Amino acid sequence: MSFATFLSNLPPAQRAVLLGLDTDDPQHAAFPAKRVVHAGLLGSPVPKQNEQTVWLKAMEETADRRRDYAIYVHIPFCQTRCLYCGFYQHATRQEVEDDYVQQLVAEIKRDTAFPQLKTATISSIFIGGGTPTSLTPTNVSSVLNALRDNLNLAADCEITLEGRIHDVVPEKIAAWLAGGVNRISLGVQSFDTQIRRYVGRIDDRETVLARLKNLLAHDVTVIVDLIYGLPGQDMAKWLEDVATLEESGVHGMDLYQLNIFPGGNLEKAVQKGTVPPCADIAGQADMYGAAREYLLGRGYERLSLCHWRKDKREGSRYNSMAKSGAVVYPFGCGAGGNVSGLSFMLERHLDPYMEAMQRGQKPFMMMAHQVEPHLQHLSNQIIDNLERGYLHFGELLRQEPRLQEVRQVLAHWEENGLMTHTGSDYTLTPIGEFWYINMTQSLLECSQAIVEDTIENLSPVQEGNTSGDPLDEVIAELMPQADSAARQAMVKKIPTPVRMMLKRSSKDSLKKMLAGLPPSMLERMMSKAMG
Ligand code: SF4
Repeated sequence: MSFATFLSNLPPAQRAVLLGLDTDDPQHAAFPAKRVVHAGLLGSPVPKQNEQTVWLKAMEETADRRRDYAIYVHIPFCQTRCLYCGFYQHATRQEVEDDYVQQLVAEIKRDTAFPQLKTATISSIFIGGGTPTSLTPTNVSSVLNALRDNLNLAADCEITLEGRIHDVVPEKIAAWLAGGVNRISLGVQSFDTQIRRYVGRIDDRETVLARLKNLLAHDVTVIVDLIYGLPGQDMAKWLEDVATLEESGVHGMDLYQLNIFPGGNLEKAVQKGTVPPCADIAGQADMYGAAREYLLGRGYERLSLCHWRKDKREGSRYNSMAKSGAVVYPFGCGAGGNVSGLSFMLERHLDPYMEAMQRGQKPFMMMAHQVEPHLQHLSNQIIDNLERGYLHFGELLRQEPRLQEVRQVLAHWEENGLMTHTGSDYTLTPIGEFWYINMTQSLLECSQAIVEDTIENLSPVQEGNTSGDPLDEVIAELMPQADSAARQAMVKKIPTPVRMMLKRSSKDSLKKMLAGLPPSMLERMMSKAMG
């Protein structure tokens, strides 16, 4: 089947997910909803019993000096749970944190003895979470020392620590800087005390500003995240947040769209009326547009569509590397990464993480072969381009002439006001920038179907909608006794990042992966979901 025939036969609901809606108001309704949090393709899963062998083989290879290497370390603890969070793992408890840090340091020491990490030069380290800043000074120093003592760090290696303003106190700052941290990324989300209270943030506006001021007096790059669309946040409050952030003098900022996870705590709290409603997708689009205009008008430079910098002190190296397909070694419970054509996610729960470590194994929750290198390379370029607001389509065509077929998708988006083009290069319009994640995921899926010649199997799915969802279909085949509600409950129990990865897998891959699980485990998953 040609791609053109496929598009013209696509049922209207799936066409809307893949290409968007035909609308006179693309700012607010170019697509039915946001499709995914992160765009990407997943190759074929590695069977559970082969994971350790495949990992050891990869780590025995020496590093490829033409590639960039980064490290991601995950700290799975938070002092409190934010209402909107789909990634929360564990509450901070001192003795649990101490045991975890001991295992994490052991993991770092063990893996850095492999030839691959011995020969790689590391350009960036990102310690994310969870709340890495919640670690005690002693524990954060142990992690930082283990990284610095056992890795070959580039002289200008970027070392980022992520966390919350609540931890920005003198004794912790001293430990971070002494351990080599040169970039701190703080999730402030909003300066408005009332909005902060609605979503479970601890400190009030005055405390946040005082702590930021104190941190900025040190020689460290400071980045702050804000979220638009929070409960009770109207346009005026949002713009006040952006202006306050500008006045604070931070070096860079991320402006994120609120994700409301179906069935999550935020959705439930709004339904119960315990917090005010959040902006809908149209309101979020307006907030994005207003902040964009405000910051561009004040001379801020954009490094990606959601990341801005005041000056060149901010390089955002880890994020650029991760988005453009650099090798990322994962360490710690809940970390993700990719090495030697494999992508993985490590166990998100502490017990299985600790048990695997004690068995001397890398604690994989899932491992997959990435799509074949040519397609992976194209995919990295599409993600990297669209993250920055353009598409060098001519360059993609030079590498893969069959992608000519996706021109009709681009033409559709151009007609709907999401892109413009000059020659063979496309630029996202301000409206297209808001919807870029949908466009990226669609373009990746279309490119994969064309390159792998699997156009018939392309079935775009909206997160939260099970109709035509390969994950739902595979569970239905394996567990015919489960009705639609039971299947949905089961899928909701899968941690959000894993669920998103699974939903992007082909039906064949999912079948292989789930069919490999013992029937008793599937039944346990089902009864847990229902219970
Ligand atoms: S601090 Fe971050 S990871 Fe922890 S609950 Fe809040 S948003 Fe989630």
